[in-house]
Amino acid sequence: MEEKPYFCPNCRSNRFKFSRITTFSTPFRKDAITGALLETDEPMLVPDEEDIIQCQVCQFAGNELRFIKQAEREPRTVTPVTSTYT
Ligand SMILES: [Zn+2]
Repeated sequence: MEEKPYFCPNCRSNRFKFSRITTFSTPFRKDAITGALLETDEPMLVPDEEDIIQCQVCQFAGNELRFIKQAEREPRTVTPVTSTYT
């Protein structure tokens, strides 16, 4: 994941709460006759080409790049703090 601001392109209200969607592969063995589950191995993380990010506000999920691009298009404006001291 990149250290860049995200902005949800769907609800356009969330820059803060996200989930990362990952895929796990869980190998198992099955009895060929009864279909019973015999053995289950530890789940293994399947490396994705791109990170899938989900917005925790509207549940929209998409490529990380879409969230980054949206944040670049509509950057959060930093309000300059005007000092009252002269
Ligand atoms: Zn959203």
